[in-house]
Amino acid sequence: MPTALITGITGQDGSYLAEHLLSQGYAVHGMIRGQANPKRPLIEAMLPDVQVVEGDLLDQASLINVVQDAQPDEIYNLGAISFVPLSWNQAELTAETTGLGVLRMLEAIRLVTGASRSRSDGANGIKFYQASSSEMFGKVRESPQTERTPFYPRSPYGVAKVYGHYITVNYRESYDLFACNGILFNHESPRRGVDFVTRKLSLGAARIKLGKQNELLMGNLASKRDWGYAPDFVRAMHMMLQQEEADDYVIGTGEYHSGNEFAELAFKHVGLDCGDYIKSDPRFMRPAEVDHLLADASKAREKLGWEPSVDFQELVRIMVEADLQAEAKAS
Ligand code: NAP
Repeated sequence: MPTALITGITGQDGSYLAEHLLSQGYAVHGMIRGQANPKRPLIEAMLPDVQVVEGDLLDQASLINVVQDAQPDEIYNLGAISFVPLSWNQAELTAETTGLGVLRMLEAIRLVTGASRSRSDGANGIKFYQASSSEMFGKVRESPQTERTPFYPRSPYGVAKVYGHYITVNYRESYDLFACNGILFNHESPRRGVDFVTRKLSLGAARIKLGKQNELLMGNLASKRDWGYAPDFVRAMHMMLQQEEADDYVIGTGEYHSGNEFAELAFKHVGLDCGDYIKSDPRFMRPAEVDHLLADASKAREKLGWEPSVDFQELVRIMVEADLQAEAKAS
């Protein structure tokens, strides 16, 4: 039975990836951080077949211990400070976690497997997936973006992801590690954190419909993103590690929509007009904006055979329905 280790198991992608790998017959170890992490009982209830292990991307020795104990065939590094606006307020923590955390995990693999620069037989053990991001393209140099588009990150988060991306490429080339970067464009779901724009909109529409809230304060809704459905995207992560050779892949739907379009559809779904409820609030504006991101995922389609299964309209419907049901139950 293959064994996988997932960092960021308490996050949106971690839970979907764990479910996917379990369905493929994997033994799954999920890493959580902190003492008495309040999310631990939630994860244990939601994913009873996942073995929860403790470690932190800020702590090198903890990663070595986790890798040594789990003896994984595959590691998926999803852990990160991932909320872009937060990265301006906690830039150093973002660099340490989202950037240097990748180096620490690669070092743990190198030390545990004894991977060395002199070895070039491809036998350097554990396969590694790094969660790279379309935010690395930032102020885009071309559109749509491919694996060859130059990076121009526009946030401390994007900068940290560029470091994580290139250190993964560097360890692949230096130590013959099977290490891949998935350059994932935005992907959403009912499990998306409540601060993220799509979830804020779906939850806001549901709560306003149910009379639990009167208005919704939002930042910039004019920016366009290539929004997909998270369960589709975790399939791509697994596919990358099943190839003959390690490589980097852009994953996205090839369609982009503005936050305003998401808002209109979400409110329309509950029979309301978003213009009556959404107010612009400068507190939620980014100091440097990323205006539009659009994926060209041709390489993933051709080499991995990956295709998204949920389009934008369906994504909005899934998210609003889930929030309506959860909020109705909670009242
Ligand atoms: P998420 O829901 O924000 O999850 C982030 C995870 O990282 C959480 O489990 C969090 O744990 C963990 N984490 C934070 N600091 C850590 C540390 N010091 N040590 C270990 N774990 C730590 O993110 P997501 O949406 O699932 O995304 C997964 C990954 O893909 C992230 O790296 C993200 O940056 C990247 N990505 C996401 C998207 C997207 O659209 N979703 C697009 C491109 C790339 P706690 O619960 O303890 O905080």
